[in-house]
Amino acid sequence: MNIRLAALNLLSIVFFVCLTMPKLAGQTTDTLSLTKESQHFCFYSTKTDIKVLDSLAITLENNYSRITNRLGIQIGKKINVKLFPDIKSFHGAIHYPDAPDWVVGSSIDDDLLMVSPLNPGSMHTYGSLMQVIVHEFVHIAVYYTWKDRGINALPNWLNEGYAQYEAGQISDYIRKAVKSSLTDKTPPTWSQLETASAMEFGQMNGYGLSVMIVEFLVDKYGIDKLVLLIKEPENIETIYGISKDILEKQWVQYIEAYQL
Ligand SMILES: [Zn+2]
Repeated sequence: MNIRLAALNLLSIVFFVCLTMPKLAGQTTDTLSLTKESQHFCFYSTKTDIKVLDSLAITLENNYSRITNRLGIQIGKKINVKLFPDIKSFHGAIHYPDAPDWVVGSSIDDDLLMVSPLNPGSMHTYGSLMQVIVHEFVHIAVYYTWKDRGINALPNWLNEGYAQYEAGQISDYIRKAVKSSLTDKTPPTWSQLETASAMEFGQMNGYGLSVMIVEFLVDKYGIDKLVLLIKEPENIETIYGISKDILEKQWVQYIEAYQL
């Protein structure tokens, strides 16, 4: 695979979020049954996928306290994890039968749905699915911080950037790919990222850009302000003590100055 194609694929390692999707129709999960419980999660899978559940449970439990403590939340129930045996059945379950293969994980309210790492499809690997499950759990944790208000007011770039940041889905490779994709052109504005549909967001490199915005905010201003921003995005100028425009300009400079 040539470098350009590899970079494109990496940038496409993105995660469909469907917080506003309707609850699953019952029949789509009939083939899955409760096959494992851990301290904070209930796993539903086929018999074939039982062998991967220990690894998924360890991955989730290893990240659980860090994320819930960071956000200052307690989740008073076990989270359901529904593991689909292949891309096709997962896309059927999220009512998106024609979705591209990079759509492998989703959170619907406080249910976590994903494709089995044992059968990750053409765009993902076992390892990337192990990050996707943490990413989707971060969305659920953020959902709990917003539960009483409705999460729709949270900007996409903040929601997706934070989920990738906590799931460790940033690397020098991604940083370089984002930077080189912006050579000779200015990145989409934060407002453009905020108003894009889920598909447009993926197509405009929204995921790579978002995690770099979050990394910039954490590097320059610290994680505590970022957590505050997740809780009160409308107060961005008070939290950072400068206008949103200036903050965004600082981010563009951060990308331009990034040493490859
Ligand atoms: Zn996501």
